[in-house]
Amino acid sequence: MVSSRQILAQLVAFDTTSRESNLALIDFVWRYLTDLGVSCELIHNAERSKANLYARLGPAGNGGVMLSGHSDVVPVDGQNWSVPPFALTERDGKLFGRGTADMKGFIACMLAAVPHFLAQPLTQPLHLAISYDEEVGCLGVRTLLDALAQRPEKPDICLIGEPTELKPVLGHKGKLGVRCEVQGAACHSAYAPQGVNAIEYAAKLIHRLTMMSERLAAPERQDARFDPPFTTVQTGVIHGGRALNIVPAECTFDFEVRTLPHDDAQQVLMNWQAMHIVNYCRRCRR
Ligand SMILES: [Zn+2]
Repeated sequence: MVSSRQILAQLVAFDTTSRESNLALIDFVWRYLTDLGVSCELIHNAERSKANLYARLGPAGNGGVMLSGHSDVVPVDGQNWSVPPFALTERDGKLFGRGTADMKGFIACMLAAVPHFLAQPLTQPLHLAISYDEEVGCLGVRTLLDALAQRPEKPDICLIGEPTELKPVLGHKGKLGVRCEVQGAACHSAYAPQGVNAIEYAAKLIHRLTMMSERLAAPERQDARFDPPFTTVQTGVIHGGRALNIVPAECTFDFEVRTLPHDDAQQVLMNWQAMHIVNYCRRCRR
C-alpha cells in the first residue's frame, strides 16, 4: 500500500497553480485509481486543458458519502519560501510544500485510504471528486456539479477537506458578486444640472446597499453559528469620472452579498433594485 505521505509528495510535485493545467495531477490520480480497479470519469473544461475527476467505490444507488477536494493551489510568485514550494519537505515533524494543507493533504489521505475502502464490504456508495480552479472562483466544480446532477444516484453528505484547523465546519455563507454600471450624461461641470452625474447616482445606490445591510444585521435575523452572525452586503470597488470639470457619464461599482442559509442573495438583490427603481423613475419623470 502506498502511504498518504508518498502520495502527497507526488501531488505537491505537480505545479497546479490555478493558471496552469492540472492534467498531469489528474492523470496521476487516474492511473492510481485505475490500477486499483476503480473506474474514473473525467470532466474537462472547454479547452481540455483542465479536468475534474469523479469516481465511485462500492454499490451504485443513492446515499453514501462523497469525499471532495480541489487540485489547484495559489501562486508562489514573489514569496520568500525557505523550502522548495513544489517538493515535499519535512521539518520539525511537519510537512511543507505548496498545497500540503490546502488541500492536497486531504486528497492524499483520501487516495491512500482507497485500498482500505475497497477491502470493506461497502453497503453504500463512496464517491470521490477532485475539482480544478477552486482558488479562482470555484470554476471547475460547476461542471462537475452539472455532471453529477445528471447521475441518478445522489450522495447523502459531502465531506470537503478544506483546512479548518481540524474543527468540522458544517456550512458556509453563500456569496453573490454583482457589478453595477451606472449610465449618466456628461456635460461641462459649469452646467452640472443639465447633465446626469453617474457618480452621484452610484453613491445613492451604494447608500441603499448600506441601509439594506444594516437591516439584514437586525438581531432577529442573526444566526450565531456564523461570524459575523448576519448576512453582509459590502461595496469593494468603484470607478468613475474623468476630470473634475466634467459631469461623469459613467460609474461602475462592484458589491457582494454574503448570505446566511435563510437569506436569499437574489431576493436581497431584488429588494435593492426595487428601492432604486422607484427613485430612478421619479427622477425620469422630472
Ligand atoms: Zn482550498
